[in-house]
Amino acid sequence: MNDILPDQTPIWQYLETEVKRVLASYGYSELRMPIVEQTDLFKRSIGEVTDIVEKEMYTFEDRNGDSLTLRPEGTASCVRACEEHGLTFNQVQRLWYMGPMFRHERPQKGRYRQFHQIGVETFGMQGPDIDAELIMMTARLWRRLGLDQAVKLHLNTLGSAEARARFRDDLVAYLSEHVDKLDADSQRRLSTNPLRILDSKESSTQELLNEAPHFHDYIDDESRHHFEQLCALLDSAGIAYEVNARLVRGLDYYGKTVFEWITDQLGAQGTVCAGGRYDGLVEQLGGRPAPAVGFAMGVERLILLLETLQAVPEYVHQKIDIYAIAMGDDALADMFGIVEQLREESELRVQLHCGGGSFKSQMKKADKSGARYALLLGDDERRSGVVTLKPLREAADQKQINTAALTAELVAIYAAEQE
Ligand code: ATP
Ligand code: MG
Repeated sequence: MNDILPDQTPIWQYLETEVKRVLASYGYSELRMPIVEQTDLFKRSIGEVTDIVEKEMYTFEDRNGDSLTLRPEGTASCVRACEEHGLTFNQVQRLWYMGPMFRHERPQKGRYRQFHQIGVETFGMQGPDIDAELIMMTARLWRRLGLDQAVKLHLNTLGSAEARARFRDDLVAYLSEHVDKLDADSQRRLSTNPLRILDSKESSTQELLNEAPHFHDYIDDESRHHFEQLCALLDSAGIAYEVNARLVRGLDYYGKTVFEWITDQLGAQGTVCAGGRYDGLVEQLGGRPAPAVGFAMGVERLILLLETLQAVPEYVHQKIDIYAIAMGDDALADMFGIVEQLREESELRVQLHCGGGSFKSQMKKADKSGARYALLLGDDERRSGVVTLKPLREAADQKQINTAALTAELVAIYAAEQE
């Protein structure tokens, strides 16, 4: 679990702001959920024999003896909240949330025990149009963040529950004949969660799978049709994808569409965004049936990717515009007035030097602050009703500005620079 330090938070804020802008441009609404739920909720939704529920959850008893769990993901909580407040019944919802998730995994690059997801969930729409919208929305976000060249879309359909069950039986029958060639994890999954074996990273297992029954031969007509329509929508929107028949996702509730955005820039932890359709979950958790599709992105991985590609714009690290320095007690009192007025009348970010020190040491701080200008006030300036504006990033001369005209002048300077 990480502290996110002040040199990192600007990147977080940048990412969050850009994501919120994209979500707003599609008319999505934010939902805020608690970070703990009844343990049972995750068992019933994610699935008893998934990695998450079997070995990754932070579960504890509260003072009443109730079993609670720090949420390992957001979908189950979102469905729980929507049902509790009647948001899914006969309604269409387009929702998003953002926040920490908790999984007791082995920490490594791109994998942490407290990590953050930005999730999107939609309810009440059963056609492939909404699947396509979600994918287009993520594609727009990658373009906006300058990540579009670094991520690839993998797409698959998991078909109906019946199709999956028939496939599972045949897959288990085939793999059981070759049990000795399976890696240990896959052997264990053979009796618990056989579809996850498709996802195995072991090359011997992958080889074995080449001869195994092929899921696409089992897909029901409705799911096939849904998938073909989705592909057609993506084609006409110019969104490239790779159909990956081995993409299964680690959670039990998915059916029909599943997708992942994967990068080759981060080593093994390459999935930055993953999602799919889960039409059965609302009913399974006790609500009236409602079709649903959503996804979640891993914020830490996206930030790693932004940093790796040096895609974070320069301005993100720019904290202040002006560093104000006053020499002497009277000047300090006046300077407080001047900077307060600047903040009142403009959007400029102004930091006033506090803590005294020589002029030279204060100028050093001004330089380090990243501000474009220093604003200086001493006795001479006070007497003439001016302040001195000293450029810190270019070799231009300093100049004196009438205090009364200061805001207008600075706003004009910064507006000109932004053009
Ligand atoms: P993975 O196969 O990488 O473990 P997952 O299938 O467990 O991923 P999801 O539950 O679908 O992942 O979560 C969606 C996204 O959240 C992932 O694609 C990833 O970007 C991010 N994520 C998942 N687990 C972690 C973690 N422990 N630390 C950081 N990010 C994570
Ligand atoms: Mg995982």
